[in-house]
Amino acid sequence: RPVVGVLALQGAVREHVAMLERAGARAVPVRRPAELSEVDGLVLPGGESTTMSRLLENFGLLEPLRERIAGGLPAFGSCAGMILLARQVLDGRPDQRQLGGLDVVVRRNAFGRQVDSFEADLPFAGVSGGPVHAVFIRAPWVEKAADGVAVLATVAGPADPDGEPDGPRVDRIVAVRQGAVLATAFHPEITGDERCHRLFVEVVREA
Ligand code: GLN
Repeated sequence: RPVVGVLALQGAVREHVAMLERAGARAVPVRRPAELSEVDGLVLPGGESTTMSRLLENFGLLEPLRERIAGGLPAFGSCAGMILLARQVLDGRPDQRQLGGLDVVVRRNAFGRQVDSFEADLPFAGVSGGPVHAVFIRAPWVEKAADGVAVLATVAGPADPDGEPDGPRVDRIVAVRQGAVLATAFHPEITGDERCHRLFVEVVREA
C-alpha cells in the first residue's frame, strides 16, 4: 500500500485519514520534516490558508514541502489546500505563502461573498459511478488555469464575485489536476464517498 501523508497542522485530518485508508492507502499524519520525507503522497486539508501557511513556516515544513512538490511529490489539496498549492491567490493576505505545484490563479472565499456554504452534485472527470456530492465551505474557485492544467469539475457560480447574489451565473472551475497534483475547492473527505481519494491514491501509485 502506498504511504499517503495528511498534513496535520489544522483541519479535517481524521476524515482524510479515514478516506485514504478506505481508498487503499496507508495514511499517516505529517507534522515534521522527517515525517514528510517518508510519504509517497500528501493530502493538504481544508482550514484557513493564511493560518496554515504560517503554521507551515513555524513547523519548518514550508521549504521542505515546496522542494518535495517541485520534485514531483503527488499532492491533493482540498479548499484551503487548493489555495496553498496555487501559484497565485486573489484576495489573499499579504503574508500568505504559496507552495506551488499548480499553475493556477485561485480566488479565495470566492463564493463566500453571497453564501458561506452550499452543496452540489458534480460530474467529475476521472471518477466513474455518477456525480460527486460536493460540499463547499467558504470555498475558493480557480479563476485561471494554465494550459497543462486539466479541469475535472465545474459548478455554476456568480459571473461577478462582487455582484448581486441572484445575478448572472457562469461555470466556475472547482477541481483540477496538473501532473501528480490534484485539487478540489470542496471537501470530499466529509461526505462518505471515497472516490476522489481513490483517484488520488491511483495517482500516487502511478508516480
Ligand atoms: N476560506 C478558507 C481560506 O481562505 C478556506 C476554507 C476551507 O478550507 N474550508 O483558506
